[in-house]
Amino acid sequence: MVETTPVHESILQALRRVKDPDLGRDIVSLGFVKDLKVSGDTASFTIELTTPACPVREQMKEEARRAALSVLPIHQVEVKMTAQVRPTKSEQKDRLVPLVKNIIPVASGKGGVGKSTVSANLAVALQRLGARVGLMDADVYGPSIPTIMGASGSPLPKDGKLQPLVAHDVKIVSMGFFMPKGDAVIWRGPMLHKAVEQFLADVNWGDLDYLVVDLPPGTGDIQLSLCQLIPLTGAAVVSTPQDVALNVAEKAIIMFNKLRTPVLGLIENMSGEIFGRGGVQRYCQVHGLPFLGEIPLSGEIRKTSDSGSPIAISDPASPEAQAFLRVAQNLAAQVSIKTSGITETSERPEPKEFAQITKEGLRILWKDGHESLYPFRHLRLRCSCAQCVDEMTGKKRLQEETVPLDVRALALSPVGRYAYHIEWSDGHRSGIYTFEYLREICPCEACMATRRTVP
Ligand SMILES: [Zn+2]
Ligand SMILES: [Zn+2]
Repeated sequence: MVETTPVHESILQALRRVKDPDLGRDIVSLGFVKDLKVSGDTASFTIELTTPACPVREQMKEEARRAALSVLPIHQVEVKMTAQVRPTKSEQKDRLVPLVKNIIPVASGKGGVGKSTVSANLAVALQRLGARVGLMDADVYGPSIPTIMGASGSPLPKDGKLQPLVAHDVKIVSMGFFMPKGDAVIWRGPMLHKAVEQFLADVNWGDLDYLVVDLPPGTGDIQLSLCQLIPLTGAAVVSTPQDVALNVAEKAIIMFNKLRTPVLGLIENMSGEIFGRGGVQRYCQVHGLPFLGEIPLSGEIRKTSDSGSPIAISDPASPEAQAFLRVAQNLAAQVSIKTSGITETSERPEPKEFAQITKEGLRILWKDGHESLYPFRHLRLRCSCAQCVDEMTGKKRLQEETVPLDVRALALSPVGRYAYHIEWSDGHRSGIYTFEYLREICPCEACMATRRTVP
């Protein structure tokens, strides 16, 4: 029987002032406060976060301590911080890897964006932050994780399962361990299917908070079947600043959307003077996607990758390692949001039902009762994709006269729970319209009146 006294109640009430910034709720209603004990003027309790990789952990601890101190007659407070990563609920996952809580693929629209280096450093960074981490190298074209992590040899069987190799305290299995050296392996669907299933079910991964999967670059059939096989929490997409402008990253996002896999966010890699900077963040803003952070273009990252000691562990004080740490924290936060079962705090506009393509245009009935009818050309001209708007400068690229007067939407598909992807009759395919943006450009008289300028 848990003892509750008026003092207990008052402390809990005070602790409601402490919020988890990622989940947007207070730590009491989130169920984070455990083992609250009061004895005389001393209170003690534990705060159990949903990830050890919480960037505001110390701040929360201090806030909670002060909140409890504000209650009479408390003069002393002991706060213990722990974390329990919550699992993604999935029958398929539980069948294959019941002890692995979350599977996170790292993808890219094409090769050469440093995806494997990012995967390896994220895995190492999450481990350094206190999580139990595995790294699965599913890059059948060029498995490079063994080199980057400095892991060689073959996983050995034990009790009917393969033991993953361990490097930098991360458990590793790579396609590279099983491919004959120098032979180009042609992977066919069924073979790949089998290999991936074995990588999950026949490997003794043990208890893992996060299993990071380095996907092959691109968005072909291989990637598609891999993603269909693996029950995923959500994906991280790596892009260089210039590739996002060329719609390369978008292909990966559309692929995950087709698979109904949430995109946890985008990472800007090789950020800096040569390739530019900030393009991925702007892209995320326009499309309502989480931005996980930027990794600078750096010779040090390359050097440490070539030598088998990722910079996140070999030089943890470096700005590069710090950048990886921040991205890892943001990624963990997005996983927490996905697994906490909190549906977004709904200040965002949301359609009441799926939008309709009608003769007059696109019709959306919103949850708040508002109705919008967008004439097709109105909508087409306001496309905010990288082809239509310069991601770097925000200037319009689309020339109005090139859009036919009778342009119409051919197909509509959802993007996560926040946007629609529209295919247009003029061949345009890359337009994603967030609900927020759609509401902003509603052409009805009432909305026009409250708007100073029409976007
Ligand atoms: Zn467009
Ligand atoms: Zn309106």
